[in-house]
Amino acid sequence: MHGFGWEWHRDHHEPHNNVLEKNDLYGLVGAAMSISMFALGSPLVLGDAAWAPATWIGLGILAYGIIYTLVHDGLVHQRYFRWVPKRGYAKRLVQAHKLHHATIGKEGGVSFGFILAADPVRLKAELRRQKEAGIAIVRESAGA
Ligand SMILES: [Zn+2]
Ligand SMILES: [Zn+2]
Repeated sequence: MHGFGWEWHRDHHEPHNNVLEKNDLYGLVGAAMSISMFALGSPLVLGDAAWAPATWIGLGILAYGIIYTLVHDGLVHQRYFRWVPKRGYAKRLVQAHKLHHATIGKEGGVSFGFILAADPVRLKAELRRQKEAGIAIVRESAGA
């Protein structure tokens, strides 16, 4: 998303008061892909032309979408519920994604996947390295 997908992802990194972001279009595209796969895999829709593995691909995209909205939109960005984990994996996950938002613009940055939560100390060190090397612009509040 920080490469060719930046055009849609950008406003997720910029402060605003809107309810929706262009970044949410990824969710719509994912839903469309998932629904298409279910149709492709269904004998009810395509009869003998149905391709069974498509159902599993559809389920995979659906599972990703559910995890993304619960973990990224819900837990990390508190778009529709508020629960701040005090310890463990969930807390690290929130910290790691907050550090993903520590850079300004599309260059550099850390923690691109949102499920693998690396040690925040290591992520901060990496941000500091990128800042010093002139690779990324890092917000002061990130503590890097
Ligand atoms: Zn990003
Ligand atoms: Zn985010």
